Amino acid sequence: MKSWTCIEKCGACCQIDLKYRKSLTNILSQKDIELIKSMTGKDGWCKHFDKNNMKCRIYESRPHFCKVSLFSMNFKEYKKKGDDFLIDCCKEHISFIYGKKVMK
Ligand code: SF4
Ligand code: SF4
Repeated sequence: MKSWTCIEKCGACCQIDLKYRKSLTNILSQKDIELIKSMTGKDGWCKHFDKNNMKCRIYESRPHFCKVSLFSMNFKEYKKKGDDFLIDCCKEHISFIYGKKVMK
């Protein structure tokens, strides 16, 4: 089994427009959904994402749903497939945000 690691300066999952993240709305609480909406800028990117440096400005105090190793426990696919599930999710999300070419 491969092991998952976040790619430095990727930031794809900081594009948090919920209209493209339907799978999350079944898992998140109403409070979390309200928080995400309040964090979402007009362009769909998180207001805390520094696009110049491709980094989270509040990394140490980011919400629980931004902590992949914690939040992944909510997905039954993670319990079955482990890191392979996270790798597939990242690939899918990176392709969606940055285009399929970057994944080749
Ligand atoms: S999509 Fe995956 S690799 Fe990219 S920032 Fe999110 S967790 Fe990290
Ligand atoms: S709080 Fe940080 S890690 Fe979470 S979506 Fe915003 S920029 Fe990304």
